[in-house]
Amino acid sequence: MKKENIKDMLDRPLRDLRISVIDRCNLRCQYCMPADKEYTFLPKDELLSFEEITRTAAVFAELGVKKIRLTGGEPLLRRDLPTLVHMLSQINGINDIALTTNGILLPKQAKALKEAGVKRVNISLDSINDSLFKLINGRGIGTKPVIDGIRAAKEAGFETKVNMVVKKGMNDDQIIPMAEFCLEEKVQLRYIEFMDVGTTNDWKMDKVITKKDIFKQLNERFDLEPLNPDYFGEVAKKYRYKGTDIMVGFITSVSESFCGSCTRARLSANGHVYTCLFSESGHDIKELLRSTSEDEPLRERIVSIWNHRRDRYSDERTEATAKQRKKIEMSYIGG
Ligand code: SAM
Ligand code: SF4
Ligand code: SF4
Repeated sequence: MKKENIKDMLDRPLRDLRISVIDRCNLRCQYCMPADKEYTFLPKDELLSFEEITRTAAVFAELGVKKIRLTGGEPLLRRDLPTLVHMLSQINGINDIALTTNGILLPKQAKALKEAGVKRVNISLDSINDSLFKLINGRGIGTKPVIDGIRAAKEAGFETKVNMVVKKGMNDDQIIPMAEFCLEEKVQLRYIEFMDVGTTNDWKMDKVITKKDIFKQLNERFDLEPLNPDYFGEVAKKYRYKGTDIMVGFITSVSESFCGSCTRARLSANGHVYTCLFSESGHDIKELLRSTSEDEPLRERIVSIWNHRRDRYSDERTEATAKQRKKIEMSYIGG
């Protein structure tokens, strides 16, 4: 395979790679990893090493990936994460490294991550009400450690966003308070529709608060203007608070799916490639990585996986499909 022709071999554009660096987490958010359910975590030797992750990411970069997002579980639990970030930042073609985190460990790690090459950070916070947040995260952790994380991210110079999963009966009364908090902090808030990822979070369609519902509430309280997408495949639908440069976004995976422009591949912590967040199984590339130092077989395997991709789960979702499939957990694949 000639290197200059590699990208032409793909049927659909491949732009983003999400890498889950660990499947463990220090929280048990009820929409993701409910505290009353049992989880088995990967043994350490099953996790890809930093060298293996970097080698795989470099092959993805040859195939067109420009952006990498590190996630988990909780990615900041992976020891020496800045070292991995530095290694990834050296890959030709990678111009954006981002992180999705619950933020709790950011005050300790923000500076090192920034120096290593992380540009953008998304921090999850689903309520600004302390007792409600403790309840949602299943570990009794209050909002302060996360707010400290948000402030540490801003101080370190990251482009910082806050992610809020909205679920009916869980935190729908937090839509406006969270908007006010993020406006005050001058960070972009992104409302995420509750999704049927995995099988443990008891998802039901009637628990989903759609963008339309959220927007209605926001629009009654604030003056908003819609913004055009910045690039093909941008997932968030964005608005600006008029008279400011602060934005607010919506991830409408349930009510307005966007499979047709999905340019995203995912690599799990144990080296499985997933072409969709709702896949039942991934494609194991760890064996190949560990059996040869040649990149060519790895490249051919990834090209083949991507070219056989037919995913459009969110386009086809119904209450029934959500129950039929044995999908992998969000904490394993990383959102
Ligand atoms: N632990 C990190 C965090 O919470 O940001 C990274 C991993 S978490 C799985 C990635 C993202 O997925 C977070 O923004 C989280 O809120 C979101 N998420 C988890 N479960 C979800 C669900 N059922 N529906 C929608 N978003 C979900
Ligand atoms: Fe952990 Fe993130 Fe899932 Fe919450 S959303 S349980 S912080 S992985
Ligand atoms: Fe992409 Fe799958 Fe989500 Fe559709 S459902 S946007 S194919 S990850």
